[in-house]
Amino acid sequence: MERLQKVLAHAGIASRRKAEELIATGHVKVNGKKVTEMGCQVEHSDQIEVDGVPIYREEPVYFLFYKPRGVISAVSDDKDRKVVTDFFPHIKQRIYPVGRLDYDTTGLLLLTNDGELAQLLMHPKHQIEKTYVAKIKGMLIPPEIRKLERGIMIEDRKTAPAKVTIISTDRVKDNSIVQLTIHEGRNHQVKKMFQAVQHPVQKLKRETYGFLTLQGLTPGEWRELVPHEVKKLR
Ligand code: URA
Repeated sequence: MERLQKVLAHAGIASRRKAEELIATGHVKVNGKKVTEMGCQVEHSDQIEVDGVPIYREEPVYFLFYKPRGVISAVSDDKDRKVVTDFFPHIKQRIYPVGRLDYDTTGLLLLTNDGELAQLLMHPKHQIEKTYVAKIKGMLIPPEIRKLERGIMIEDRKTAPAKVTIISTDRVKDNSIVQLTIHEGRNHQVKKMFQAVQHPVQKLKRETYGFLTLQGLTPGEWRELVPHEVKKLR
């Protein structure tokens, strides 16, 4: 048995609070009967409708995927390029990626069909720490490191504090490997941050997402999260 608002939120219909509003305002039916009280518990076999449209219920599933380069973080692509869900041919649940990694970025990406968790993780308030390793052109000098760490203007808004660690530099090839830890998830954020200090990113990998790492996986591989990991993410 599960609470009705939780089921609606998991199905990606709305946040839990919005789901409560939908119930209270008479938009939701269980087995053909309008339900407006909040404590309603439903079973897996119960038919739930929102505004007359049946909701599709699946067991929630959670995957940690090592995204390879050259793959779109989406469930389909109008140019028929490879998408992340192509790596899950035998998973019958309708999973989708939590956020995005660029086409040419590799690394850790979560996929789930749990709309509530996906919304929570993608919400700017949630601020999960992510660690990226970038190969950048040239070498960072201390004032550039300070700028990246304290915040740098991207599209008229300063980035939140970050942590920069230089892993190695190659003077001959004129590039460096740098680890950047950020909490935000703005569009192309890492590339834009390095671009802003004139060190374009040549390669990018996301190594960690909160407490989750890629340990034991190679590009294209995935594993299911274990229940305690899912709990810890919430
Ligand atoms: N920042 C980027 O610039 N690209 C990614 O794929 C992820 C973070």
